[in-house]
Amino acid sequence: MTPAGTVIIGAGQGGLQLAASLRQAGHSGPVTLVGAEDGLPYQRPPLSKAFLLDGRAEALILRPAAFFASKDITYLPGHRAEAIDRAARTVTLHHAGGRRVLPYDHLVLATGSRNLVPPLPGADTALGLRSMVDARALRARLADARRVAVIGAGFIGLEFAAVARGLGLEVAVIEAAPRPMVRTLSAPMAATLADWHRAQGSVLHLGRAAAEVDRGVVLEDGRHIPADLVVIAAGVRPRTELAEAAGLEVADGIRVDGRLLTRDPAISAFGDCASVPSARTGRHLRLESVQAATDQARLIAARIAGGAPADYAALPWFWSDQGACKLQIAGHAGPGAEDRVLAPGTVARIDEHGLAAIETLNNPRTHMAARRHLSSPPDGDGALLDRIIAA
Ligand SMILES: Cc1cc2nc3c(=O)[nH]c(=O)nc-3n(C[C@H](O)[C@H](O)[C@H](O)COP(=O)(O)OP(=O)(O)OC[C@H]3O[C@@H](n4cnc5c(N)ncnc54)[C@H](O)[C@@H]3O)c2cc1C
Repeated sequence: MTPAGTVIIGAGQGGLQLAASLRQAGHSGPVTLVGAEDGLPYQRPPLSKAFLLDGRAEALILRPAAFFASKDITYLPGHRAEAIDRAARTVTLHHAGGRRVLPYDHLVLATGSRNLVPPLPGADTALGLRSMVDARALRARLADARRVAVIGAGFIGLEFAAVARGLGLEVAVIEAAPRPMVRTLSAPMAATLADWHRAQGSVLHLGRAAAEVDRGVVLEDGRHIPADLVVIAAGVRPRTELAEAAGLEVADGIRVDGRLLTRDPAISAFGDCASVPSARTGRHLRLESVQAATDQARLIAARIAGGAPADYAALPWFWSDQGACKLQIAGHAGPGAEDRVLAPGTVARIDEHGLAAIETLNNPRTHMAARRHLSSPPDGDGALLDRIIAA
């Protein structure tokens, strides 16, 4: 009987990497990559940065069409997985021409995340930014806009704000928390970035929740921030509905073990949609980053190709380009970490397990040094910090 092979649901950053890594790892079994979006897999980070300025969609494509034939990978764009039958080991796909049932030996969920839209009156008139379709719509609207309001001062909201301000638009950012990037960044670094945005002329309304979208944004205190374009960048939710309906464990992401396997040994999950145990703290963590999607894909590929890789333990790292500010984070700190400013634009975050992360601004050298050291701590955090500062 012909093997059903590996079926990957989600043809984003992680799904594409997994298909490529399977072949790199010497796996010769059938590989099918299923993507709900049309077109070729693309990278998302430039959607809130360069793409808004240059509109060069082709520069974002991860692999050309010829790649799939040359690697004997079946790519099914425009196919949305609707249901998993774990007993039969099949997945039902919906596409423009109807339905199709695909068997699998191993199924990998790489379904990413969707934008969280707060239940505000008028929110449906605002734009979001997750896909190429979203980015094209936003770029088109930017061309005529004069004033923009951004709900949410996370990475994507602030990257967009920097682009819009750079284009000369009036920019207001509304954030319910008292500081930007509250989930992911230290207070000192957040303050530095907030100052930069203000210096560019953007107005930050911090500690102010949006109450309504109506020709701009109405704040909870009744104040109206006028805008002809409103963008909601209020965080994401993992796409877990397939896994949930199939009876897999879901808790802010599809729960997997250190091998990135769900409790069904025939189903893996990774990337934005997965909650993965941290090698450092043992706590489950969902990472929204290119690095996590890529490194996790490589581990799953090695396992499917017959290796016995160690549990997932790659150091998380992140970046965000906001105008002239290149923020880089090596490591990951949870809420409650203690922040220590090591030098202007360099912050260490320390939690109960020791040094958790180093944040740097426009300092790639220190970032790379921090990544090296955090990946293999030599002899205690004190020495480590000294070495990073000296690097
Ligand atoms: C605007 C923007 C800027 C970003 N900037 C950065 C950055 O600077 N640095 C960084 O590290 N990260 C950044 N990220 C995050 C990064 O892009 C993601 O963490 C990464 O793409 C995650 O990869 P993934 O494969 O898990 O999910 P995705 O790349 O999101 O891919 C998931 C794919 O699965 C598809 N899918 C979902 N459900 C189904 C289904 N049922 N059937 C078939 N297909 C399905 C989706 O359509 C999507 O194409 C950014 C993200 C966005 C949106």
